[in-house]
Amino acid sequence: MFRFAPSPNGQLHLGHALSALLNRDLAREADGRFLVRIEDIDPGRSLPSFEAQILDDLAWLGLDWEKPVRRQSEHLGTHEKALDELNRRGLLFPCFCSRGAVKAALPKGAAVDPDGAPIYPGTCRELSAGDRARHIRNGDPYVLRLNMQKALAEIGRPLTWTEIGPDGKAKEIEADPTAWGDVVLARRDVRTSYHLAVVIDDDAQNVSHVVRGKDLYHATSVHRVLQTLLDLRAPVYRHHRLILDKAGKKLSKSEGAESLRTLRSNGKAPADIRKLIGI
Ligand code: GLU
Repeated sequence: MFRFAPSPNGQLHLGHALSALLNRDLAREADGRFLVRIEDIDPGRSLPSFEAQILDDLAWLGLDWEKPVRRQSEHLGTHEKALDELNRRGLLFPCFCSRGAVKAALPKGAAVDPDGAPIYPGTCRELSAGDRARHIRNGDPYVLRLNMQKALAEIGRPLTWTEIGPDGKAKEIEADPTAWGDVVLARRDVRTSYHLAVVIDDDAQNVSHVVRGKDLYHATSVHRVLQTLLDLRAPVYRHHRLILDKAGKKLSKSEGAESLRTLRSNGKAPADIRKLIGI
C-alpha cells in the first residue's frame, strides 16, 4: 500500500505533484494499492477548501485513489489512546514553556536538530510533581514531549529502517533519534502531532511503502522510535529528491511557490507537469 499524504493548508505545487505521481507509479509497478490521506491535524491552518482543491488537482493529474479518503482530524481519539498509553508508561512529560521561554533557556551555541531548530533544553523534564500540579491548576497550556532518553532506554537496542534508493536498491539505515531531543507528541491546541499521527495512520491504513520528500528523511528516526514503542508495523521508506526553485530552495507553499492550479490556468497539461518535474 502506497500513500500520498498532503496537508490541506495551501495549494499543491510541483513538489507535491512529484510525490503523488511517484507514489502512484511505484504502486502500479509493484501491483500495489494507492491512497490519499489528508493530514489536517492543524486546526488553525487546515481548510476544507484547500482539501477540495487538492483532490481536484490530483484527479486532474490523472490519479485515482482508494476511497474513502482518511482525514486525520477524524481519528484524534486513536491518537489520544496511544498518547495515554505512552503517558502511563512514564515516557511523556508536560512542557509548559512558551516558544520564547525555550529560546531564553537555550545555552549559547545550542545544538540544532536535523531541521535546524535548536534542541529543546529539557527545562520541564525534571519538574517536581508539585510544580507540574501547580501549572495544571493554573490552567497553563502545555505540550506533551517524549522523554527521548527514557524511550531509547526502554527500547534498549539500536533502530534501523529500510530505505529504497532511486535505483530501487534497499539499504538499512541506522536511526539517530537523539538528534531530535524530546520531540512534541501532543500540541497545545490538539492532542496529537505530525510524528504521532503519521505512524499511527500509516499502520492503520496498512501502508507498506512510504514515498515522500527528502526533507522528511531524518524524521524517520523519530517515526521508528514511535513505531517500536507502540508496536506498529514499519513500512519501507523512499525519500525522493525535492523540486527546487530558481534560487535553489525547496518549493514551499508559505513562500508562494507557483501552484499546480496556476500552471493549470496558464494552459499547462498533465503531461507538461511530468516534463517539468522530470518523470
Ligand atoms: N503531510 C506531510 C506534508 O504535507 C507529509 C507527511 C509524510 O509523507 O509523512 O509535508
